[in-house]
Amino acid sequence: MDIYLDNNATTPIIQPVLKKQVLALKFSYGNPSSLYRPGILVKRELDDARKNIANLINADLDNSRILFTSCATEANNSVFNSVIKQNPGKKHIIISSVEHSSVFSVAERLQSLGYRITYIPVNTNGEIDMEFLKKKISEDTLLVSIMTANNETGVIYPIKEIVALTHSISPNIFTHTDAVQAVGKIPVDVQESGVDFLSLSGHKFHAPKGVGALYIKGGVNFSPFLLGGHQEGNLRAGTENVASIIAMGEASVLAKDALGKSDFVRDMRDKLENELSSLPIKSYILGKQANRLPNTSNIAFSNIDGMQLMLQLSQNGIYVSTGSACNSTVLKPSRIITAMKTPIEYQKSIRISLSSYTKQEDINKFLEIITKILLKKGK
Ligand code: PLP
Repeated sequence: MDIYLDNNATTPIIQPVLKKQVLALKFSYGNPSSLYRPGILVKRELDDARKNIANLINADLDNSRILFTSCATEANNSVFNSVIKQNPGKKHIIISSVEHSSVFSVAERLQSLGYRITYIPVNTNGEIDMEFLKKKISEDTLLVSIMTANNETGVIYPIKEIVALTHSISPNIFTHTDAVQAVGKIPVDVQESGVDFLSLSGHKFHAPKGVGALYIKGGVNFSPFLLGGHQEGNLRAGTENVASIIAMGEASVLAKDALGKSDFVRDMRDKLENELSSLPIKSYILGKQANRLPNTSNIAFSNIDGMQLMLQLSQNGIYVSTGSACNSTVLKPSRIITAMKTPIEYQKSIRISLSSYTKQEDINKFLEIITKILLKKGK
């Protein structure tokens, strides 16, 4: 039996979600923009999904919006596109140095177009430097975009404090958080944080791939990224991916329930880390001292690089990911690992990411196999 421990990359669709999706593909064929019965019924189903997603992030739909997107990458890109159109005079944007490429690459593109980008550094635990951030925000800043939790290390960022700090300098500065890795793993509350924009992605919480959402706070102006039809209240053109949205709505309900299991997930993760750390091999857990997601462990061993270890685990039917990318023939540590100034000998790590559906017996089997691989390699 395969053991899947790469839930930060993507998650399998769970049965009730799949069932909803198949039923929707079969029966919810109407175009939600059509004014006859099949269209009206599908529109209602989309609105139910919207309510369920709102509930997962505690958004009040009477006073805010949730747009369906094709993925979180689109949601992230849309935010940057909107803010630069809303305020063409401002040219300063702040992001963290550990953002996902769907934010980082957009910032780099804007930099090449003349925008000034400030990258907020992180310390060796992966935590953001709040003092540095405070010094960099000014009335001229257009947007502060910091992720809620990092995909590689699971380190959680204090979004409420970041929004409060930003708005204490100027209420006109837009705030955005890429909450893709946090949604469904820890409570996310847009009313509590007060953030202007939040992005999420269905496939990270057991919904299908190719569907996401963008939350927009009430009173915040938004310029659409995709132009065309009048869908999504004129804010995102293109016929909605109906079946996947309905499935994501169902997944949101289950994800909210599954938050109750996060202590159990954390417990499995912590025991796993303790066991690996107690082996007679030097190891290093990235972000261990920081506030982290309960499901993520990024760990490096002195006697084997992450790529080799990932491949050997894969031969045994166990799937994790690496913190390094193969760049032609050289293994290059990820931007996040480098930003954290991780010691050179520990830069080639593996990332193990659990879900609320991971079983203790999977972890036991994983530990048995990884231990054999590590001990065979020697110290
Ligand atoms: N942001 C983060 C933090 C992610 O981990 C990912 C996916 O890995 C994305 C954005 C992109 O999500 P999507 O695959 O829906 O475009």
